[in-house]
Amino acid sequence: AQRRKRRGVSPEADVNDDTHVFYRNPFSYYPTVARGDGAYLYDEYGKRYLDACGGAVVSSLGHSVPEVVAAIKEQLDHVEFAHTSQFTNAAQEKLARMLTDRAPGGLNHAYFVSGGSEAVESAMKLARAYWVQMGRPDKWMVIGRDQSYHGNTLGALAAGGNRWRRAIYEPMLFKAPRVAPCFCYRCPYDKKPESCGIDCAEDLERAILEAGPEKVAAFIAEPIVGATAGALVPHPDYFRRIREICDKYDVLFIADEVMTGLGRCGSWYAIRQFGVVPDMLCLAKGLAAGFVPVGATLVHDRIVDTFSSRRHIFQHGHTYMGHPLAAAAGVAVIEYMETHRLVEKSRKLGDELLARLHEALGEHPHVGDIRGRGLFVGIEFVADRDSKTPFEPELAFHRVLRETAFDNGLVIYPMGGTVDGRRGDHALIAPPFVITRAQLGRLVTLLVKSIDQTLARLVP
Ligand code: PLP
Repeated sequence: AQRRKRRGVSPEADVNDDTHVFYRNPFSYYPTVARGDGAYLYDEYGKRYLDACGGAVVSSLGHSVPEVVAAIKEQLDHVEFAHTSQFTNAAQEKLARMLTDRAPGGLNHAYFVSGGSEAVESAMKLARAYWVQMGRPDKWMVIGRDQSYHGNTLGALAAGGNRWRRAIYEPMLFKAPRVAPCFCYRCPYDKKPESCGIDCAEDLERAILEAGPEKVAAFIAEPIVGATAGALVPHPDYFRRIREICDKYDVLFIADEVMTGLGRCGSWYAIRQFGVVPDMLCLAKGLAAGFVPVGATLVHDRIVDTFSSRRHIFQHGHTYMGHPLAAAAGVAVIEYMETHRLVEKSRKLGDELLARLHEALGEHPHVGDIRGRGLFVGIEFVADRDSKTPFEPELAFHRVLRETAFDNGLVIYPMGGTVDGRRGDHALIAPPFVITRAQLGRLVTLLVKSIDQTLARLVP
């Protein structure tokens, strides 16, 4: 009842009985979603929400796409499930071919799982297994970056740099170094992008040498950082230098494209835009665009080739890997994206969204940075624009903005992040690729209104 009151819903309202659901945040009121259509979601009272973030950067095709629904139903008519230790299925074989055909050279194998954290766990365990195969059993360590998120399972949490998510689980997490992010707006080395020596990339070499190259199995990074920083686009040469350092010290490079993959940043895979080929690439979210849970790790030939005898298999797996429904949904999603040229659309509409945001908010005293690629756009909010001073954490600016926007019928994905103890508030805007230009205009209008209302409430 209290949750309903806080969000202006009458405690007596005839809503569903949610007594037995253990919510991730029991202090929020969640309306019951009734249906979806394109870029819109509708709650049980018929209120319409413009889904400007695809939930958590998931629904890249929008909601209720008939072609994808039909493909899932058709698969159900044939067979719903057969375990991958006993059968293969045509849908997973087709999806693996589609994903690897579009991937950077050598990433020719897809290992299917059920979500992003599982894809990351698989990649990290595979890195370890690879080095054992190669006769280097001391290599186990996975280096990640500050200001990163790779999932909520223990391994993924250990590699990630999200302090508040890690906090109480610290004793359960493997200990490995984390290096600086490539965060040009808040450069950890106080450099300017035009003249910097990409010191943040050099930080990886320092960390490998300090840990001992004989111990380091892999380095993991999001090509464009999502949830913890709001679409951080790295320096154009950053990943080339990272690849060189990884090669120099026999360290595998895992690109975590759970958010950025499958067209989100205006190319099938974001890492392609930086001219390097990772050893593994993790996918989820946009892979089946929310129609069915699925994830995948794309793996380079040279890793797969080492698992070449019965005595040397990759000891790992999950019950639902290669699930026929998930694979059928993934195939239908990619076919739909090809038919409607959605990768190109993500690139073009992304440019337009950035331009509109710069026009509407570029001079705003509390907007520090607007950044992103394709329909993956971040806005960083500040208390003071010149000094880049963040808002006081107690204000919970990002949370109030999210709730205000939600009340206005706009769903965005704001988060608070931390770099070197500094706090930041940002919002991720990642609408479906099918969003129309008129809806894009509405998105910006509702966002500006919500920012103004939030400021009026918090900084009167
Ligand atoms: N990796 C990245 C980059 C993510 O953004 C996320 C989720 O937000 C994950 C991994 C974890 O994915 P999941 O929530 O599907 O386990």
